[in-house]
Amino acid sequence: MSFRVECPNCGSKAVIHNNANVGKEIEGVFMKDLYCRCTNLKDCGCTFVVSASFSHYLNPPQRDVVDLAKEILRKENQLTLGGMGS
Ligand SMILES: [Zn+2]
Repeated sequence: MSFRVECPNCGSKAVIHNNANVGKEIEGVFMKDLYCRCTNLKDCGCTFVVSASFSHYLNPPQRDVVDLAKEILRKENQLTLGGMGS
């Protein structure tokens, strides 16, 4: 993930030195805590946590589009064959 972080205190560049995958236990959730350190050691040097989470796709993954199409076709076949669904 290419991601620039600024120090919320002094606006200097900050580096992410660690991260915690907060959402890993929850299905379908992408959420991380990014542990950041301000590089302005002389005047600031604070450390802080930035939360990063998935919001939405701009372009869905190709694989999902194909799977979605297959799923639609499968359901339509079931309907036309008079299937009882699940
Ligand atoms: Zn700072």
